[in-house]
Amino acid sequence: MFSMSEKIAGIDIGGTKINFACVEGEEPGCDVISLKTPGTSRGILDAFYDGVGQLIAKHGIKAIGIATAGTVDLENSRVTGSTGNLPAGYSGLELKKTLEEKFNIPVLVENDANAAAYAEFKAGSAKGHLNTITITLGTGIGGGIIANGKLIRGRSGAGAEIGHIPMTPEKKRKCTCGAWDCWEAYASGTGYALNARELARKIPVNNRKGVLKDKNIDELTTYDVISGLNNNDKFAVEVHNLWEEYLSMGIASLMNVFEPDSVVLSGGMAKFINYDALNAKIRERVVIADTQLVPAKFENFAGLLGAVYLASEKFFR
Ligand SMILES: [Zn+2]
Repeated sequence: MFSMSEKIAGIDIGGTKINFACVEGEEPGCDVISLKTPGTSRGILDAFYDGVGQLIAKHGIKAIGIATAGTVDLENSRVTGSTGNLPAGYSGLELKKTLEEKFNIPVLVENDANAAAYAEFKAGSAKGHLNTITITLGTGIGGGIIANGKLIRGRSGAGAEIGHIPMTPEKKRKCTCGAWDCWEAYASGTGYALNARELARKIPVNNRKGVLKDKNIDELTTYDVISGLNNNDKFAVEVHNLWEEYLSMGIASLMNVFEPDSVVLSGGMAKFINYDALNAKIRERVVIADTQLVPAKFENFAGLLGAVYLASEKFFR
């Protein structure tokens, strides 16, 4: 059983909002403050510092764990790169140094997908699994890999970018990272819509029925297709099967390389997965013994919680 000996602030910096919480025990305890991030970098940074200051003053916070979009250096101190999914002013900002100087308490920074994996490992769906991978399926694909109880962070901290495994030599789709045909260009929520449009264009206009009826194919969304699944729409089922096929390719690759106890699926797209169907597709592609495929426990607060667990272990043990 993991428990926090000190109150620690958890902060999650995402593209559209920043969440603050104070954590005791296993879950966010008090005062989840949410800050919307659009605006000038100066304004958002000032509001960010205010949010941190309020939490510390009100709750006697002893350390800060930050989960952030973008890659983070090996020293867990700052963001070293992002694909444009961070609020203005954060990329390259000396987060640890700045906050430690302002508030005089220790700070740890970790990539959000790594932090989410750590939370699932410490207290979530992968609790007790020394080898586990958490995959976050949203507009992109993030991942965190735990091997022998430790996060794999790579040579500079930028490792475990599982969303950018190349899928095909065809150079069909440009990824947000600038490369061609990454896994997330096919198996994320964004990829889902692109798969749907590609399939829809092959159907003659006169034959477009169900979710495709009277639709502008360029505007076809993931939601349009998902909504058709309930009616067993033929096109929607085909798109969904193809998506699970792409999902299985990436997941089976990871399973074959790491032979984990479990793979945890998180993020907005994870709730649309048919686990039996996906498991069957994975089984066709793996050379290792069974690995559990499980839904995440912590969803929205996983990154924040994971950063808190990492800070607690680093500063109070
Ligand atoms: Zn990529």
